[in-house]
Amino acid sequence: MLTNLQARDVATVLHPYSNLATLPSQGTLILERGQGVYVHDVEGKPYIEGMAGLWCNALGHGVEELVEAAAEQMRKLPFAHLFTGKSHDPAIALAEKLKELAPMKAAKVFFTSSGSEANDTQMKLVWYVNNALGRPQKKKIISRIKAYHGVTIASASLTGLPNNHIDFDLPLSSVRHAGCPHHWRFGHEGETEAEFSARLAAELDAQIEAEGPETVAAFIAEPVMGAGGVIVPPEGYFAAIQPILEKHDVMLISDEVICGFGRLGEWFGATKLGMKPDTVSVAKALTSSYIPLGAVIIPDWIDEALVAQSAKIGVFGHGFTYSGHPVAAAVGLKTLEIYERINILGHVTDITPHFQKRLKALGDHPGRRSPRSRACGAVEVVADKAAKRAFDPKTAVAAKVVAFAQDEGLIVRAIGDAVAVCPPLVITEAEIDELFDRLGRALDRGE
Ligand code: PLP
Repeated sequence: MLTNLQARDVATVLHPYSNLATLPSQGTLILERGQGVYVHDVEGKPYIEGMAGLWCNALGHGVEELVEAAAEQMRKLPFAHLFTGKSHDPAIALAEKLKELAPMKAAKVFFTSSGSEANDTQMKLVWYVNNALGRPQKKKIISRIKAYHGVTIASASLTGLPNNHIDFDLPLSSVRHAGCPHHWRFGHEGETEAEFSARLAAELDAQIEAEGPETVAAFIAEPVMGAGGVIVPPEGYFAAIQPILEKHDVMLISDEVICGFGRLGEWFGATKLGMKPDTVSVAKALTSSYIPLGAVIIPDWIDEALVAQSAKIGVFGHGFTYSGHPVAAAVGLKTLEIYERINILGHVTDITPHFQKRLKALGDHPGRRSPRSRACGAVEVVADKAAKRAFDPKTAVAAKVVAFAQDEGLIVRAIGDAVAVCPPLVITEAEIDELFDRLGRALDRGE
């Protein structure tokens, strides 16, 4: 039986990423307020936000300094844009800061309002720059099966999940998908992680050769795959991939929309995992998700190609009304200042072993759970772990676990057979214990 608010909700809001057939009878969890790692629903029931919203609310709720930064900027200059000869201080200061932190030698920052817009921009830049460099045939972008890069036409094409393609007439014809680095699921019998990495690199090499290296422009990768099921790359993966890209002059785009700003204990996942990206996309934790903001950080050679192209054809015809929105930029700057002041990277490094220990312990369950983690993680629930046999999809075990978790006062997310956990970065050890106690009970009830 739906409450009045739930009934109004399902009658009027077209919900993203939802089963639109079952939602009207199931209703939605309607949240009202939050403090720290907790959120409360409209009935006043508290939940641990075990997904930091959508992998984004790094500092948790109730950070007054961020509210103040937004209010102050709104009072001073609530809107200004960066088109045709205009700029403002918050965008300049934030671009400078992002350049300083970037995992490669960065030249400039292009602002967006989301991760999808950032990856859409990446794809347009790849095409535009290769035209500018006089190699118009070098346009294909290789992503990976189970990758998540967003939902706009270009970024949804890069995403490697069937739901984002089927009946949307995607992916675009210039996108290819390479193998997924999920060792437990796709490794051959007896294959070590390093051997699996070498095989994926060899397969990528063969794929690029088959396409024609002169037609392949870029490879895009999340350091740790998030929405595909929290897939931590196997040992040596990027070290094996990188030389293949270099050999074929294929640029590397690191999609840091989840991993950026501390999730793996460093500013960027790329540095943690030994990637040498040409460009990066960021969003989410850039403002701790208090306000939408994304960005693409580019190196000199792309910037120079863009400038040269403008000298030839005029205006660089790309930009959003909200590119570099001053309120979002002010909140972004304040967020980065807070991360530095509270040493968020040190905190994540300190708590990660405890997080991993508790997550791994869930996986020690008799034969049915496969855990994987960094400072985010997932437990894959399977019918038979030894045989790697999945549950019948109709049983929707992970979704049941998520529903039981909600009952226990914990928000987590089902991704296929995996139950994903990605708490705010500020979570304490005691809160991690509470989170996993609740998740353990939900798993016991759901399986
Ligand atoms: N890239 C990654 C790695 C993501 O996880 C997401 C969203 O979850 C996106 C891009 C898309 O970001 P947005 O939802 O802000 O468009």
